[in-house]
Amino acid sequence: MHEMSIAQSVLDIILQESRNHKVTRVLSVALKVGELSAVETESLRFCFELLTKGTPAEGAQLDIERVQVTCRCQDCGSNFAVHELIFSCPSCQGVRVEMLSGRELSVESFEAE
Ligand SMILES: [Zn+2]
Repeated sequence: MHEMSIAQSVLDIILQESRNHKVTRVLSVALKVGELSAVETESLRFCFELLTKGTPAEGAQLDIERVQVTCRCQDCGSNFAVHELIFSCPSCQGVRVEMLSGRELSVESFEAE
């Protein structure tokens, strides 16, 4: 499952950081997930819960921020949000667009004690 491997890599990052900072318990984790990364929020939570059992991250709250897909038009320079995966410029109908956000999948921060 896609979400399982993501949850695993999120956990790896947290545990690594926890060791570096001598953390005993992770309270919450903030994630940024781009709309294009095709992650199911609920199933990511479920996998994360499963994987954290018995680790310092057990019971940690997962804060997931969805990041909208945004592009910049290379013809007229305007920035726009992409809806329903239509990648053309709403101002000039140009299709030479550069993606600015939407693919990210990162651990922004986490709280621990
Ligand atoms: Zn344009």
